[in-house]
Amino acid sequence: MHRKNWRSYIHASDEKPRLSWQLVKRVLVYGKPYKWSMIGSLISILIYTGVALLSPLILRHLIDYAIPEKDVNRLLLSAVGLLILPIISGFFQIITRRLTSRIGEGVIYDLRVSLYEHLQRMSLRFYTHTQLGELISRLNNDVVGAQTAISRTLVTLVTNFVEVISVLVVMLTLEWRLTLMGIIILPLFILAARRLGRVFRDIARRQMEMNARMNATMNETLNIGGALLVKLFGQQETETERFSHRANEVKTLGIQRATMGIIFMVIIHLLTAVGTALVYGFGGYLVILDLFTLGTIIAFGDYLSRLYTSFQGLINTPVEFATSMVSFERVFEVIDLPVGIEEKSNPVSLKEVSGEIEFDHVTFKYPDSSEGLLTDVDRPYLAENTGGILSEGEERGLESALHPTSQARELALEDITFNANPGDLVALVGPSGAGKTTLTYLIPRLYDPTEGTIHLDGHDLRDLRLKDLAHSIGMVTQETYLFHDTIQANLRYANPEAYDEDVVKAAKAANIHQFISELPDGYNTVVGERGYRLSGGEKQRLALARVLLKDPQIMILDEATSHLDSESEALIQEALERLYTNRTSIVIAHRLSTILSADLILVMDKGRIVERGTHEELLSQGGLYSHLYETQFDK
Ligand code: ADP
Repeated sequence: MHRKNWRSYIHASDEKPRLSWQLVKRVLVYGKPYKWSMIGSLISILIYTGVALLSPLILRHLIDYAIPEKDVNRLLLSAVGLLILPIISGFFQIITRRLTSRIGEGVIYDLRVSLYEHLQRMSLRFYTHTQLGELISRLNNDVVGAQTAISRTLVTLVTNFVEVISVLVVMLTLEWRLTLMGIIILPLFILAARRLGRVFRDIARRQMEMNARMNATMNETLNIGGALLVKLFGQQETETERFSHRANEVKTLGIQRATMGIIFMVIIHLLTAVGTALVYGFGGYLVILDLFTLGTIIAFGDYLSRLYTSFQGLINTPVEFATSMVSFERVFEVIDLPVGIEEKSNPVSLKEVSGEIEFDHVTFKYPDSSEGLLTDVDRPYLAENTGGILSEGEERGLESALHPTSQARELALEDITFNANPGDLVALVGPSGAGKTTLTYLIPRLYDPTEGTIHLDGHDLRDLRLKDLAHSIGMVTQETYLFHDTIQANLRYANPEAYDEDVVKAAKAANIHQFISELPDGYNTVVGERGYRLSGGEKQRLALARVLLKDPQIMILDEATSHLDSESEALIQEALERLYTNRTSIVIAHRLSTILSADLILVMDKGRIVERGTHEELLSQGGLYSHLYETQFDK
């Protein structure tokens, strides 16, 4: 692992800056709904900086006139003025902050929601290729970074700009030669900011990337599946080492960032000191020569320090702004990813579905390039760690070496043609890796065919409204996912408007009602990630109840291969029979009963349909089916 020290970022500073006008314009679009708040805060900024400008003038008046002339009234008036001005300016500062935070939070809210919405639309392929930690990091850290850009940086930029200009004008009217002397060092400020700013921004971007990686590692190994794997393979130390490696990168960058920040501050302070010394030296001399009053030099000194502070803020903020823009950039990166499965601009709405499914010469290949995905979090450890995971290609290579009848191939599905009439039960059988799951994934458009078309009730799936499609299909996968919520809520996920009786009815049909009723909290028992642990069979029946509640016209089901005790087996069997009646069902079948009652059996091998027919027809052919029948089916 090569590690960069901060010097190497100096070279990075030669690269083209990432902050593009296009990016800024895009961010501005998000600010548009807050136009009035922006105008309001601008006015408020003008008022409070203007008011703050008056203080040194009052001070000058107090020193040059009120005190020498021993005018107590003027003195009092000036003192009161010195108190009232900050009150007014403070009030408008609060107003400004309130307005700008409303803008900042609002923009971030919009950004976050559109990001989440976009992610909801992303295809399954995106999720199989992206690490959760990476995503969460973008939703959290980057969005917050973007918020800083809007609510803090932009405001400081405007405030400082207004202040620099107004202070300069006042200073020039007070004494122009002294002013020139004070601003002679300003170009040095800019130079310092330029050189260090880019370094700073690059460190920030890397820091965000590293943070995301660290999160990804945590997510991969700290979820229940990952944690179990680590334990079973005794890899705790390796994982800790890998984590510490990533955490170390975060640490190093954090130190670099802090160091760069303070170096920058110190340089700026030194420059300020030079300017102040010049002005007080020369100005003091002018006072000695009586060319200048004491009050003027004190007021001047006050203005000068304000000028430096706001000028420093001004040159600093573009750097900070650019840094925060990196966050926007990272968020936009996700928003710009193609969703993969798109809905047509005027999709066909399908209300009444009869459930006729037709595959017409469908060929499918899993996309293998990483195009349209987030840059993957690299896994250097995998190369070193042979006990682990092979790349897909390697895995297939290995598989074909071990099994002469390997399913390894280029196309996951090839030239699939079949027709399921409304109400039909189509059973998919075939060796593992034959493409059965893939075929079922194409029906709800988790993926689109590479070639050929799939029709539902005569419509190309790609023409249909995605919502209608999802509504008409019920899918039960091998793995049942339950939210960390009550059984009731998990079931209702299929149909939030269902009556309680419907929920119970579905649970009864899935033969799970009895079990639920015996739980301490019944339907209110919390299940899922950290809730009550259900057995495999119970989970399956819950999944069946859930899909029964949805009551879709088309049923896609992967009959679980896991062996259940005979009681659960019988319960599931019954539930399944209820499920298959009156709807078109496409089933990856492992149960003999399912196969026997199928209207059509498709025997798949290496992505193709090699045999088709009913049980008797296929058995008499003596091909792959009869071989599978002898060896595999649960009889
Ligand atoms: P089955 O369900 O019959 O066991 P699958 O449909 O799961 O078979 O797999 C068919 C082929 O597609 C296999 O060779 C498998 O390695 C490959 N495959 C499955 N999922 C993916 C994926 N997300 N990306 C790339 N290849 C995949």
